[in-house]
Amino acid sequence: MTTHEREQLRQELVDRLVQIYRTVRADLSQVVVEEAMRPDPTDEAEESAVDELQAIASQLDDRDRHLAHSLEDALRRMRNDDFGICIDCGREIPFERLRAVPWTLRCAPDQSRVEKNDGHRATL
Ligand SMILES: [Zn+2]
Repeated sequence: MTTHEREQLRQELVDRLVQIYRTVRADLSQVVVEEAMRPDPTDEAEESAVDELQAIASQLDDRDRHLAHSLEDALRRMRNDDFGICIDCGREIPFERLRAVPWTLRCAPDQSRVEKNDGHRATL
């Protein structure tokens, strides 16, 4: 994955998060989301952004909250440099798949295996 591709996916994740949060607070600024997603919220603006998003997340319905959580988790993994690595086989997830589902944790074969074993409806 190139730096450019990575940045493209990061932007996609942030955009989706903003969209979800806006179902609760329509005037939410993207800057708030960007600040809350910083590696170590140190200054007051960043801390209050984190608090604000937590308050909003608590008002989301289960489905949106679950997705928001997956998106935040993906942004966290991106900072830790384990973004785009399948959690089961440890191989790089193809960029095409990440572009379709940027918050996915697994490569396509592992994901379908898990879904089969779970017997749950596909969520990714
Ligand atoms: Zn895999």
